[in-house]
Amino acid sequence: MIKSPSHDQLGPPHEAMFLILPYLPLFELLSMTQVCKSFRDALKDDILPWLNIIVEKPLNTRFSDDFLVKIMSNAKGRLRVVALKNCFKITDEGLLQVIASNPLISKLYLQGCRGLTIEGVIEAVKLHTKANHKLKNLAISGIYNVKTEDFETLCYMMGINQMQIKQGKKNYYHTRRELSSFKRESQPSIDVDICPKCGEIREVFDCPKDSCKGRMQQQQQQQKQVLMECCRGCFLCVPRCEECGVCTKDEELGEAACADILCLNCWLKLPKCSFCNKAYCNQHAYDQQSLYPGGFLCSHCSFHATQSSHY
Ligand SMILES: [Zn+2]
Ligand SMILES: [Zn+2]
Ligand SMILES: [Zn+2]
Ligand SMILES: [Zn+2]
Ligand SMILES: [Zn+2]
Repeated sequence: MIKSPSHDQLGPPHEAMFLILPYLPLFELLSMTQVCKSFRDALKDDILPWLNIIVEKPLNTRFSDDFLVKIMSNAKGRLRVVALKNCFKITDEGLLQVIASNPLISKLYLQGCRGLTIEGVIEAVKLHTKANHKLKNLAISGIYNVKTEDFETLCYMMGINQMQIKQGKKNYYHTRRELSSFKRESQPSIDVDICPKCGEIREVFDCPKDSCKGRMQQQQQQQKQVLMECCRGCFLCVPRCEECGVCTKDEELGEAACADILCLNCWLKLPKCSFCNKAYCNQHAYDQQSLYPGGFLCSHCSFHATQSSHY
């Protein structure tokens, strides 16, 4: 009879496994440390997998200052990329501690970290810059109460030319979730801007619609008249289709089963609820309650279906 090898008869993990470690998201990396002792030891001694730390779902809601400092210490002061997405529990104190002990950080993504204040972020960037280190990318959208002066201070410290932001790479709404941490950008950048419509510091989007590209509008900015794409603006000023990022002012819309907006073009291509004919954007497609092969109910219809079947 062939016996499968017991746990301790298994040899150490194959060397090739160690090559992939630096590319794993934090959640998987932490799971690996639970797999076996040799992994745990290898990960403890190897700083390479810990240089770029990306925290997103599902770890984000549980990620606290203590956890942050502990995980970051694995890089032994050589962190390069810190991406914390929607880590509500992180506070200024935790952030400052990490910045103080990791002078090599060049990309700092803090989108939706609502426990941070803009004062804390400025303090962190100041600390980093004072030691003669430069941040290349900073993302702060979703942090509350950012004023124009704060934005200008950050641009100044990072050496960002604000006019370059506008002429530079286009920022499209539908690609905003792609983690740009590993995109190579030659200019230092920040993810927010002054919205030309409302003047608030928010993420400002360009329009991918061909008919919008030529439509310019004169706008007053910093005592200068500048030409601006007429539908450039934050999401509150210019609502956009979740799937393709076009402005939706003159657009016919399709009914969405989630809270997002879908232009008719995108709606036509997406699968729809068998009962109410609403579509989920791809981001929320996991909410589909499958019905039979090829069909689904939206969570609203499926809730009502189960309620009525009780009677
Ligand atoms: Zn706006
Ligand atoms: Zn669309
Ligand atoms: Zn447009
Ligand atoms: Zn439905
Ligand atoms: Zn959606």
